[in-house]
Parts: sequence; C-alpha cells; structure tokens
Amino acid sequence: MILDCHMHSWRYPQHFDREVMLANQPPRRRGWSEEQFKQMWELPVEHYLEEMKGSDVAKALLLGLKAGATLGIDVANEYLAGLVRERPDPLAWGCCVTPTEPGAAAEVERCVNEMGAAAVGELGPVYGGFRLDDPKCFPVWEVARDLDVPLVVHAGPAQARWGHLKYGDLMAVDEVAIQFPDLRIVICHLGYHRYEEAAFLVAKHENVYADISWLPQLAGFDRRALSRYLPQVEHGYYHLIHPLLYYFTQTFGLTDKLLWGTDFPAGSPGRSIETLMGINSWLEQRHLPKLPEESVRRMLHETWRKVFTKLSDSGR
Ligand SMILES: [Zn+2]
Repeated sequence: MILDCHMHSWRYPQHFDREVMLANQPPRRRGWSEEQFKQMWELPVEHYLEEMKGSDVAKALLLGLKAGATLGIDVANEYLAGLVRERPDPLAWGCCVTPTEPGAAAEVERCVNEMGAAAVGELGPVYGGFRLDDPKCFPVWEVARDLDVPLVVHAGPAQARWGHLKYGDLMAVDEVAIQFPDLRIVICHLGYHRYEEAAFLVAKHENVYADISWLPQLAGFDRRALSRYLPQVEHGYYHLIHPLLYYFTQTFGLTDKLLWGTDFPAGSPGRSIETLMGINSWLEQRHLPKLPEESVRRMLHETWRKVFTKLSDSGR
C-alpha cells in the first residue's frame, strides 16, 4: 500500500492574507485580478482525489501550513480535519501550529486526541519564524512524542520574501533529535536545498527520516510546476537523488529512512511514482550502479508504516 505522506489542500481567499501573498508574487502578476489569483490558489481536495484515481496511491496525508506572515497562507486545522471526516478513506491529516505561540501544545493535543491528526506538520521554521531547537517549542515536541505522532518539518531554507533563512538551519534538527530520542522527525524535501546535511542527519539519528517530495518538480520533471523555470535540467532529479540513495543503500545500508510524497500541488501522484520507478532504467542507460529494487519498494510501500504509526494500524 502506497501512502503519499505529503500533500496539501487550501482555499482562496479563506486561508490567505492577500497583502502578504501579493508581496511574494513576481512583478508580472502585480496587475492580476482577484479572479486570476483565485484560479491560481484555489486548491480543493477534489483536485488531488481526481489525480489520485489514476495512480497507485492508496492513502494521502494532508498537511497543514502556517505561513501567514511570510507566504500569506494559513490553513486552518478545522478545515483539514473536516475534509478527513468526510473522507476517512483515502485521507488522513497532519495538524500545524506555530510551536512558539502560547497554546500550541494544547492545540496539538486537541487535534490528535479529538480530531484524529496523525502527524504534526508541515512545520516551517522559516515560514513561521522560529528555531526548532528553541526551548519554547519543547512542550509541543513533548506532546507529539507522548501521543506518538511524528513531526513533519520543512527544516531547511524556504522561498518566501519575508521569511528569515537563519531559521532554516538543519542543524537544529540534530539538537531536537538528541533531546527527544523517542520523537520521530521527518525532514521534508530531503532538506531542500541542503541535501547532504539532511542525509547526514538521517544517517546519524535513528529517529530522523526524510521525504523526497517536491524534488522531481524542482529538478524539472513536472511541466505544470516549477519546472518551467528549469527546463534544461531534464535529468536533474536523478542526478540529485541517485548519489543520495546510493549513499544510503550502499554505505550505511539504510534503505528504510526515506519516504515518498508529492507535495501536491507541486507534484502529481501518478507522475511522481513513475519518475521514481524510472530511476534504474535511467541509471542502466548511463552505466551507473543501479539501486536495489527493494530500496525503491520500501520507500513507496513500507517505511511510512514505521513513521506514521497511527495510519499503519488503520491501514492494515
Ligand atoms: Zn508541503
């Protein structure tokens, strides 16, 4: 069973701060009408479910986002919980908070115990302006650990005009992983763009994992999304991901620390799986060492069960 461990849904204008959102737009969109922005941002969950139909994905984890002051997006936990209440199959959800805000730990407790959240995320230190290793966040990490839900964290740099990159310090994950050895942490997008640091953290800590969502689009695979800015790097994804996967599977023998996800709308479920499955034929054509098929299989079908234990119980 394949879990898409990272996807989104939000509504425009309900979840948006228009002024901040506009500040993040390229100049060519300055004169856009409200209708044009609505078309660009509206992301009802039906869009995902439609694309999911044609793929092998069996379950999808909807993640929140609290980036009101930096991206202008703030997705309400109630909204996601409501979507999952309507469609417990195939959807699950992760709640989001700004962990330095008063009441954040109580909100996580409420979301998990009363509304069935299976994770805390997508947390964004750059988006929310906090450090993961700030002791002010610790009550939230304690609650997540005690309720047995993982943190899903966009821990590295992030593109938001008013976001401070100083918060995108991946080494803060090291500190949290040491202080909370029983808390599972997923580094989103393999630490974009600090892939090697993320790989090192995943190898160093038993409780740290990474998802490979968004990477095909960054590398130019999905023409709908960011690829239009990077049309030349047709095989960038494989160039990026192969050495890292090889590092895991050959050097450390770790084939069970990476998770597959789309970061929809950045990536589509069918296309992202196809891209990952194509890695060995691409390697073969270039006479590069292939990856064990088992590593790829585990990434899609198995590893998520260890991380999202609440879903693995219900999915069996
Ligand atoms: Zn995301």
